[in-house]
Amino acid sequence: MIELLREPDTARMGLLCSILESRGIATAIRNPGDWNALGLSHLDRERNWPVLCVLREEDHATALAILAEVATVDEERSAEEVLCPACGESNPGNFEICWACGAGIPSESGDPDSPN
Ligand SMILES: [Zn+2]
Repeated sequence: MIELLREPDTARMGLLCSILESRGIATAIRNPGDWNALGLSHLDRERNWPVLCVLREEDHATALAILAEVATVDEERSAEEVLCPACGESNPGNFEICWACGAGIPSESGDPDSPN
């Protein structure tokens, strides 16, 4: 059994687990219990985070590649779509003007003219 990653988010852990299983990689989760309720210090809790493992050593590299692929897709998705504040249409993240209605789309770095 080889450790792949430590992840406090058990929902994400379950998702990654099922992605790997769907690619034919046998996985196991260590420390799947209620680690958050153990009353441990932050560091100890981190040590007790659920750990995603592959059962077969030969699957390790493949599993890492799949996880990297999934992480990249996640990043692309979050950087990809911006909802138009005027009409709610989704626009590519690099658009400054909504393709659907022409309203300005605020950039993530913030508008220097805004009173915030
Ligand atoms: Zn719009």
